[in-house]
Amino acid sequence: MRIAFFGVGHMGGPMAANLVKAGHEVSAFDLVPALLQEAVNAGASAADSPARAVENAEVVISMLPSGAAAKGLYLGDNGILDAIGQDSLIIDCSTIDAATARELAAAAAADSGRVMIDAPVSGGVGGAKAGTLTFICGGPEDAVERARAVLECMGSKIFRAGDNGAGQVAKICNNMLLAIHMIGTAEALQLGVDHGLDPKVLSDIMFASSGRNWSLEVYNPWPGVMEGVPSSNNYQGGFGVNLMNKDLGLALEAALASKSATPMGALAKSLYGLHANAGNGGLDFSSIQRFFKHRDE
Ligand code: NAD
Repeated sequence: MRIAFFGVGHMGGPMAANLVKAGHEVSAFDLVPALLQEAVNAGASAADSPARAVENAEVVISMLPSGAAAKGLYLGDNGILDAIGQDSLIIDCSTIDAATARELAAAAAADSGRVMIDAPVSGGVGGAKAGTLTFICGGPEDAVERARAVLECMGSKIFRAGDNGAGQVAKICNNMLLAIHMIGTAEALQLGVDHGLDPKVLSDIMFASSGRNWSLEVYNPWPGVMEGVPSSNNYQGGFGVNLMNKDLGLALEAALASKSATPMGALAKSLYGLHANAGNGGLDFSSIQRFFKHRDE
């Protein structure tokens, strides 16, 4: 298939590379020339403009940093929506607010057979590289089914959460919970270590007990407890504090819109905000462990 891919950053780069590996013809575009060159090295072709990228594309995929970026790409000055073929399928994999996702899908469908779904992902850069992402889709059932063959080149699990925007809602519910259990895990580990426990032994005990959770199981925030995770690499790589902050902001906006009570999510947003303001925005989100470290050490 001929696929246009917008945003070949940390996630989009390896996702586009996996589409090439699966035999698709990928025309990539990014605002950063060096990233576009990496996509070319992986077998994609570089489009010299967004409109050129979507020429004859049967599928258009975007993996952008924010709702504003997605809206700008599709509907802004020189927005690409009108240049996209009338029967094309558009898949936005960015994590953005549900309202923007619905607005884009409605604009895509207006006066044409174009169909757009939201398909934010879970699984991080490791999952993007390995082609094992989870796609959390929102959109008409037949459109999600149509997207399946393409998504399966980049991921191993594909869910349909509901209609347009539902994928984004499910994604931010998940990430709000992820932030909460990461903070809780870090807090518990610090408490145990403060009382002389070995963080590895404590992790093993909690892992076998009712405190078990994903942060303990595959992403332990205490340096040295687990190999191959950001905490054992000075919190480099992984999922950035700034991105977690963005997702928590989206969760709180959603909570405001539905008058939902999310006290733990609000606290998580405050803690990650303070952590980012202390200069940690570029570190992996498990670096929240450092927030609990005694400053007099
Ligand atoms: P990134 O900043 O590395 O990549 C985004 C890319 O989009 C950049 O290269 C940027 O130049 C490009 N871009 C911005 N506007 C553009 C435009 N108009 N046209 C073409 N390219 C444009 O970010 P990332 O880490 O790849 O994350 C992308 C999305 O995936 C975000 O919404 C993020 O929340 C989500 N996400 C990230 C992770 C992760 O672990 N990094 C995990 C799950 C979901």
